[in-house]
Amino acid sequence: MSEIATGLWDDAARRRLVRLCERLTGDRHAAEDLAQETLLEAWRNAHKLHDPTGADHWLAAIARNVCLRWARSRGREPARLDVFEAGALADRGADVEHELERSELVELLDGALGSLTPEAREVLVRRYVHESTHAEIAAFLGVSEDAVSMRLSRGKVQLRRLLAPQLGGEDRRETRIWCAGCGRRKLVQRKEAEAISFHCPGCDVGSLSHHVDLTNPFFERLVDGAARPTTVLGRLAAWSRRYFAGGTGTGSCTACGEQVEIGLDPERPGLRAVCASCERSVSSSLRGLACGLPEVRALRRAHPRARLVLLGDVEHEGVPSTVVRCEALLAGARIDAVFARDNMRLLAVGS
Ligand SMILES: [Zn+2]
Ligand SMILES: [Zn+2]
Repeated sequence: MSEIATGLWDDAARRRLVRLCERLTGDRHAAEDLAQETLLEAWRNAHKLHDPTGADHWLAAIARNVCLRWARSRGREPARLDVFEAGALADRGADVEHELERSELVELLDGALGSLTPEAREVLVRRYVHESTHAEIAAFLGVSEDAVSMRLSRGKVQLRRLLAPQLGGEDRRETRIWCAGCGRRKLVQRKEAEAISFHCPGCDVGSLSHHVDLTNPFFERLVDGAARPTTVLGRLAAWSRRYFAGGTGTGSCTACGEQVEIGLDPERPGLRAVCASCERSVSSSLRGLACGLPEVRALRRAHPRARLVLLGDVEHEGVPSTVVRCEALLAGARIDAVFARDNMRLLAVGS
């Protein structure tokens, strides 16, 4: 999220809405999603709000409906929701009223809209405020319905990030895995409902970070609820090694199964596949590809702080190549992985 976006957003109001949902359901993890649903529903019904002085009650009522629906869909009938249903809010009523001040509500709704990217705002407003169908939005924007679904889910991810408290709401912790870029810091795992990512706090953002998009059912199945960072990264590495084994060429989209072009990543040495049909993309840096090789994995198991470095361009049996070296300096151990420069196919692995 950019600084501008954060600035537009009133942190206190956002937290109060999330907390209200938490209190209504007793579920801290569901609360952020439910707060998001509440905002979407509020936008959809904004025309019904005639009396702005009742705005806080109005939003609280929407939050209650959303939370109640959620509880029912899960077959939950917790005591606190029975209480709400019966309208016996006496003991909590006062709290709810104080959850959201009227002036904050306007800021909350406007801030949320203003903080989204224009693309996300466009699809979310068309879908949730004007209640257009996917087909209608697709026709209007001149894109496929799959692309609309994709943009909607991305928009909801953005919205959810806005609702997640800056630090407390996300699950962020240091793992026991050393960064393969610098070998000096341990990777930090960040877990959200839509993604699991790993990065090194000491290296440049994105240098050798890993991102698992859980909105893509393929990756959700791949991770399959695994909690251990080594398991998640191990599965990701194994998949990426298979998927990108042939270097550039054609493959199939992990999400929709359509044929995709696997090409050179324009942003860094590595491979990338972008699906023209659903707009999802997957990529791996060259160092990421090397990380998945069994030889490199074995060396890193023996020497957990071994680093991966990109060596300058070389010729391998007459083919212009790039070498990724995994080295444990003190132990004097190393493995070189040689990739053809034009198609990123693995040519050789050895010490
Ligand atoms: Zn690092
Ligand atoms: Zn696709």
